[in-house]
Amino acid sequence: MIDNASIESLKASIDIVDVIGSYIELRKAGANYKANCPFHGEKTPSFVVSPSKQIYHCFGCGVGGDSVKFVMELEKLSYPEAIEKLASMHNFSLRYTQGSSDYSDAKRLLEAMGQWYRKNLNHNSVAMQYLLKRGVSQHSIETFEIGYVPSGGEVMGFLQSALLPLPTAVEAGVIAPSENGSGYYARLVERITFPIYSTSASLVGFGGRTITNHPAKYINSPQTKLFNKSQLLYGYHLAKESIYRNKKIIICEGYLDVVMFHQAGFKEAVAGMGTALTSEHLPLLRKGEPKVILAYDGDKAGIAAALKASQMLSAAGFDGGVVLFPDGQDPADLIAKGQSEAVAKLLREAKPFIPFVLEMIVLMYDISDPRAKEAAFGAVKQYLDTLSEIIKDAYIPMAATMLGLSPSFFGKGAHPAKARQNFTQKRDDVGQLSILKTLIEKPQFIDTVLNVMDSDMFGTYAGLFTAIITAQHTHPGIVGLSVDENFQVMNEEELAQALIQLLTLHYMEKLKSIPKDMTMETQKKAFLVKKIKMDILPRLKKGELVAVDLTLYPILPTCGALAQLGERFAGSEEVSGSSPLCSTNHAF
Ligand code: ZN
Repeated sequence: MIDNASIESLKASIDIVDVIGSYIELRKAGANYKANCPFHGEKTPSFVVSPSKQIYHCFGCGVGGDSVKFVMELEKLSYPEAIEKLASMHNFSLRYTQGSSDYSDAKRLLEAMGQWYRKNLNHNSVAMQYLLKRGVSQHSIETFEIGYVPSGGEVMGFLQSALLPLPTAVEAGVIAPSENGSGYYARLVERITFPIYSTSASLVGFGGRTITNHPAKYINSPQTKLFNKSQLLYGYHLAKESIYRNKKIIICEGYLDVVMFHQAGFKEAVAGMGTALTSEHLPLLRKGEPKVILAYDGDKAGIAAALKASQMLSAAGFDGGVVLFPDGQDPADLIAKGQSEAVAKLLREAKPFIPFVLEMIVLMYDISDPRAKEAAFGAVKQYLDTLSEIIKDAYIPMAATMLGLSPSFFGKGAHPAKARQNFTQKRDDVGQLSILKTLIEKPQFIDTVLNVMDSDMFGTYAGLFTAIITAQHTHPGIVGLSVDENFQVMNEEELAQALIQLLTLHYMEKLKSIPKDMTMETQKKAFLVKKIKMDILPRLKKGELVAVDLTLYPILPTCGALAQLGERFAGSEEVSGSSPLCSTNHAF
């Protein structure tokens, strides 16, 4: 059967206006869309589609429902068939599970836990005091269903007394088997609980804030079949209507910020699940076409997160801007102190994404030093290249002024070597770029790749590869690639296959180039050809990831990219002495 989280992410990524609009013609009528009802014959439109509620309704014949229901009714499909139909319409790949549980038991268990947590809050004065001190009103506690989870023993006791089966509690992410295998432990203990809802408003997990100075301030329920945290935004189900109505979404850093924003009337506020915004959030952010306001703390972590998100959002074509709250004052505190007006003013004055990113990039360099200025120019140009041509063109004068350069430096073809790095226009290097994207999302595979590949094997993308392995998270190329939907993040097995394919091609090329190498002795050529033919290629063919062999390196065209990796290869004479051979594959 279809994985439930997969259905939720499909639902989160589709818009009812697109779905119904692909069957019948919709006309805009105020906040809604109208059409002649496809379910009963009529001449005047009484069929209404509401983008903010993601539902349709016919005032003539009374039909109504969501996207899935519409497809089921119109195409006469079962629920799973309609889901599959919608998935194929949106190029969405569904995940399937074995077994037959539809997780309704897990859902019911989560709801029971949520009610119990809420009841506990009234009996825990420390938790209650904490919330009151932070300025959270009783009304907000109810709206956001804030609760409290006591000790692990009490959680186990509650599950027992409420006759809730332990395997279901494991499935719901409430408890987990102990490591020594002798029982279970509760995942959240002694924390204030914030229930997390999916975009379709079903309870999927909890976030917990410690009140006992546990080193982890916030913990979320684990990723479960119900809960895919990388695609959800906290508070979205409560914010949705305002987001659609006001064409605005405020993204803050913490759950408490969301609560306080709503309390102060900014009902478009949501937050990530304790992680940065990623490209997985983009489908949800696009719904309702809101302007995106990032409301982050002005500390180092907040600025870095705002920069990364601004690069991604501007590259993905979003309109919006950044507000950095000054002097470690988080928005929740400002609102608690009654300074909602000041917050509103800051939000109105949000700095648009592109000027913000440009400013931040330029600030990273000392542009009074010509070399640093050149590097800043490269970084700015690379970022501008992630934008659409028209937008890019509009911002070139601003970028030039910030750098103290003539706009002509940004002209077309001025720096062909750099321009080639614009992977979004390059479609023929899918293998390399998919590997790079995988390393961005799954850095645990970096060692595997470093073991078998040298940065030069990435050709044009050597610089990007270096940026990834040295964790330069704000590198515009990394941001651009992580939002480029043309390249897929691979699992371990797919990565191994892609590496073998790439290595095979690489060594085949090598075989061709060795005989032409004028700087090498015949004997050495013979040795290397034999090594590749008799050893490396057969091992690759058997599916073995052959470690990169430095004895091959003197013959490789190594230049700039490898020099960037100098530290890794410090002391390797072959590498440092290889630059005169740097001629073949490199045009710059
Ligand atoms: Zn009708």
